[in-house]
Amino acid sequence: MRLSQSFVKTSKSAPADAETINAKLLQQAGFVDQLMAGVYSYLPLGLRTLRNIEQIVREEMDALGASEVLMPTLHPKANWVKTGGWDNIDVLFKINSRTGNDYAMGQSEEEVVTPLVMSRVLSYKQLPVKTYQIGWKYRDELRAKSGIMRGREFLMKDMYSFHTTQEDFDKFYREAKQAYLRVFSRLGLVAKVTEASGGAFTTKVSYEFMVLTDAGEDDILYCEACDYCVNTEITKTVAGAVCPCGNGGLVAGRACEVGNVFDLGQKYGKDFDLSYVDEADKKQYPIMGCYGIGISRVMGVIVEKYNDEKGIIWPKAVAPALVYLVSIPGRDNATPVLDAAAKLYSDLQTAGISVLWDDRELSPGAKFGDADLTGLPLRLVISDKTLADNQVEWKERTAGDATRVSLGEVIAKVIAFK
Ligand code: ATP
Ligand code: MG
Repeated sequence: MRLSQSFVKTSKSAPADAETINAKLLQQAGFVDQLMAGVYSYLPLGLRTLRNIEQIVREEMDALGASEVLMPTLHPKANWVKTGGWDNIDVLFKINSRTGNDYAMGQSEEEVVTPLVMSRVLSYKQLPVKTYQIGWKYRDELRAKSGIMRGREFLMKDMYSFHTTQEDFDKFYREAKQAYLRVFSRLGLVAKVTEASGGAFTTKVSYEFMVLTDAGEDDILYCEACDYCVNTEITKTVAGAVCPCGNGGLVAGRACEVGNVFDLGQKYGKDFDLSYVDEADKKQYPIMGCYGIGISRVMGVIVEKYNDEKGIIWPKAVAPALVYLVSIPGRDNATPVLDAAAKLYSDLQTAGISVLWDDRELSPGAKFGDADLTGLPLRLVISDKTLADNQVEWKERTAGDATRVSLGEVIAKVIAFK
């Protein structure tokens, strides 16, 4: 991507009404644009980042054996009436059509996936089924002030599983939990898992995946000696209490829920009266689970965790590009520098390296400021000074100092850095 061809510009300062770090930096760096509270456009760099997060999630869901689909966002009222959601879910957006029909905007998709899957599953031989989508969700959230961490329109990965036995469900549930931990670790996040129920003593368990951040809206208690973690909403335990492991006192922390998995039991099969026949030819309702990850929320949380006074510091796995290439043409003759930069830009891409070329007619200082603000992992600079030595300046976003690398070696070095 060449910045001179992009319509998106960075700003000198963050919007005055932005309250959280992610809201400030993502808007200032031109990754997103706020249309209204909780609703954003994803601009070229923001969309690339979102796609990178999506792809990591997609790979891990595929590895679980789940198949990806894309379901509608506009739902008939009747499905939501059947499950009770029409009257009971306060965040449900409802739409009235000129035909007199009512619709709901998907805030989750059990109401669509249950009939979709169970109208095709007639026999126990066709189960289990695991399916997921990555799609926009709509929720009438009252407080949408945490930037992209709480949207009224947001991107979610929602997976659903259908099983014949509790055992089979529990097995998949454990696998999904492990897959989630892999997702978050690949995204550069440490997720703590709360068990939102009586824990091992009940079958209906749900896990919340929490990342510590002051921009979160949940309060948790966790142990520094083991994995124990609880949401303060559900527990009578207090900070300082001894952890069940016996080795530590519980610490209080502010956190953001980046994902969760729920045991839905047989509710949805029953609501739609969609069953299958078991080995004894008896009608049975499937045991279902749902598994969410807030894709756009995760992007906000990553910014909350990875930033400094100069801007964002993207982990390599999600950065919109690996390299921020800066060309600083000489005063008398711009051509040699621009030619060398164009060659490096093209060679990097041939080597499979994603690169953003800042070829704008701006001062070096303005380009360096934007390099830091946008937070790409590696900055390469070609100027007539470096070119005189057949070199390029190399600076990693997390490093204080720049070094020099010869033009002949730079591609190999970037590949090793990747
Ligand atoms: P919260 O308690 O934060 O409102 P939730 O319990 O309502 O979350 P779910 O309905 O389980 O969340 O949705 C699955 C995932 O979608 C959540 O774990 C979260 O990562 C994400 N998510 C939920 N609501 C929003 C939102 N308004 N904006 C962005 N992401 C969200
Ligand atoms: Mg909610």
